Amino acid sequence: GGTALDAVEAAVVVMEDAAVFNAGHGAAFNAAGGHELDAAIMDGRTLEAGAVAGVTTIRNPVRVARGVMASGDFVLLQGDGADAFAKAKGYETVPQSYFGTDQRRQMLAEMKALAAKGQAERANEAQKHGTVGAVARDRHGNLAAATSTGGYTNKPVGRIGDSPIVGAGTYANNATCAISATSKGEFFIRKVLAHEISARIAYLGQSLERATNDIVMVELPE
Ligand code: ASP
Repeated sequence: GGTALDAVEAAVVVMEDAAVFNAGHGAAFNAAGGHELDAAIMDGRTLEAGAVAGVTTIRNPVRVARGVMASGDFVLLQGDGADAFAKAKGYETVPQSYFGTDQRRQMLAEMKALAAKGQAERANEAQKHGTVGAVARDRHGNLAAATSTGGYTNKPVGRIGDSPIVGAGTYANNATCAISATSKGEFFIRKVLAHEISARIAYLGQSLERATNDIVMVELPE
């Protein structure tokens, strides 16, 4: 009986709090051994969206993304400004040590070793990724999407991925679909992937399956 928006936020909070995923507690380390987190949420009914990028002290970035959306004034806040916004609004903040786990530290060491040999592309998915996301459709037919991530292991300091970019890694529109993406964000930003799938449904009348398959399995690998 709740809303799609509440459902995707709640689902992502659970995954941010779980150490096994690359979001919140358990987030990937960047190249400097720190954490910079990205998250977004979008309401498919109104096309309102909120996102934070490169935040360093927010326990649950998806909650603050929702707060950014609720502000009504802006869509994407980054870095210190986003951390300050969260603090001022009373969201829970944590020290950087909260995000790190031994498993992620191990992955950073493995990624650095591969990179030193010029073999970064040989890393497996678990070593690099693990972004979390949720999509939902509620009883009123409203769609929502949310995504949260630490980016990828050993990413450059300051690098922002696709997750907080509306239309790239996160998108929801009642007229078409709700999408939360994972994998190397640079490809998703270039292809404006989530919106591209939505646009194919809207303008070409493609099914969700066909549009997704064409983009993810055919175009993306090219
Ligand atoms: N898409 C995320 C990023 O590029 C990484 C991931 O999905 O694991 O930041």
